[in-house]
Amino acid sequence: MGFKSVEDTWSTIKLIPFAVVLYDAKKKTYKANSQAQSLFELSPHNNFDDVDFKHLTLTNPESKKQLIFRELFDKYLVINTSSNILLGKANTNSLINAKLAQLSDSVHIVTFEIIKQSEDEQYNFDKIISKISTDLIDIQSDEINTHIEFALKAIGTVCFADRSYLFKFSDDGKSMRNTHEWVNQGVEPFKDKLQHIPKNSLPYFTSLMNSTHLFKVNDVEKLPKKAIKEKEELQSEEIQSVLCIGLRYDKELVGFIGCDCVKQKRQWTDLDLIRLKLVGEMIANAFKNINFKNELQYIQQQLITANLKLNEQVNTDGLTDIANRRCFDDTLKNELLRCTRYQQPIGLIMCDIDFFKKYNDNYGHQQGDEVLKSVAQALKAMCKRQGDLAARYGGEEFAIILPATDTDNSLKFAALIQQKMAELAIEHNYSTVSKQLTISMGVYSLIPCKKTTAQSLISGADKALYDAKNTGRNQVALYK
Ligand code: GH3
Ligand code: MG
Ligand code: MG
Repeated sequence: MGFKSVEDTWSTIKLIPFAVVLYDAKKKTYKANSQAQSLFELSPHNNFDDVDFKHLTLTNPESKKQLIFRELFDKYLVINTSSNILLGKANTNSLINAKLAQLSDSVHIVTFEIIKQSEDEQYNFDKIISKISTDLIDIQSDEINTHIEFALKAIGTVCFADRSYLFKFSDDGKSMRNTHEWVNQGVEPFKDKLQHIPKNSLPYFTSLMNSTHLFKVNDVEKLPKKAIKEKEELQSEEIQSVLCIGLRYDKELVGFIGCDCVKQKRQWTDLDLIRLKLVGEMIANAFKNINFKNELQYIQQQLITANLKLNEQVNTDGLTDIANRRCFDDTLKNELLRCTRYQQPIGLIMCDIDFFKKYNDNYGHQQGDEVLKSVAQALKAMCKRQGDLAARYGGEEFAIILPATDTDNSLKFAALIQQKMAELAIEHNYSTVSKQLTISMGVYSLIPCKKTTAQSLISGADKALYDAKNTGRNQVALYK
């Protein structure tokens, strides 16, 4: 051979990014690079014999005549001309394109490229597609990136691309940016560089995208003159072939999905187009679902807030803005159960404003309302402990629930209320017990048992309140 040794030549040739087999006619041995080893299902070796290719069936797709592997090198193929052959492995068939080149009298190489994948591989891709689509249907927004990256890798691999990506157009439609990218081993990623690309910097691409939603270039070199800017851009990224398909969302073009070939050119097939479109549509749908879900979540949140508000309204007294009778009843029942379970005392204070009818009669009902609000807010502010509740029991009567509070502490609390009333110092010149507004209180505290009812607690505190009224008002009485 008038050149370096076969080994030397092979060390360069085997790096070609597609399947290649070298045949040395003198030694009757073959060499196959890793892509060829995988294409022909060979176990990794440096040298192969005819027998290593015996498991394959090679057929001329036109004449249907079978040929043996060796014939590719000495009979079937014409030097530097592409020919198709059917490759049969186990139960599957692929149409592959083979091209023979001569290195010396006795050394030839054949390069192989799959044109149409076997049904089996098609089936595998269909399986991947169905996985992508089920993954994307039930997606949460924080998972979408992982799934998109998986989908891009799948489509990039199946289309023999070196890079696959998703671009999104800006809301004003003037620019685009690369949001997701997959790159083959050893291929430079470009995502970070492709963030704010004005659409008008690529007018040919933009106009094709707008009109046909498709940008398909088998050979960047052969782009027309009017695509000068696109050619420059693609060549600066060393792209040889590119395929981009528009993504629509509610009929509007929102971006595109695409594949690049850097290491070699690719004649994009209809299948590539269909698959890329399919994956693109699935991704667009996933975004739609996420938006839909977010919208649903927003509505649900609004409903929850509305419900909380309603609940609050249902439990709040309209005039005084503290708990109402209904809330009082519920709370008393619950706290009673709790104190029974833990055998803790529960205190109840019933309060009634003294001579309030006279207050209304002399200061006016409206002024009376203001007083009710002040007293209510003062009582509410005093209930600082968890579980304490001040409620408007009715008219000018208030009730205070004090869980885990014994008689002594309930009485102390009542004393504090009296002190607070003194501090409020609301003028009441028509009261016979004081010049200021006062209240009378009935206190009842006990360690409840299972028989203790809310009603018994209320009537005890009520009786004490009656005593407080009857023995002079502006005082606290205890139910014993
Ligand atoms: P006592 O010291 O015996 O409690 O005398 P009282 O006048 O406070 O008792 P009574 O039950 O006779 O009167 C309660 C008054 O409270 C009558 C009513 O006009 C007034 N009242 C009840 N609810 C409201 C209200 O929402 N706003 C106003 N301004 N007054 C109310
Ligand atoms: Mg009353
Ligand atoms: Mg009263």
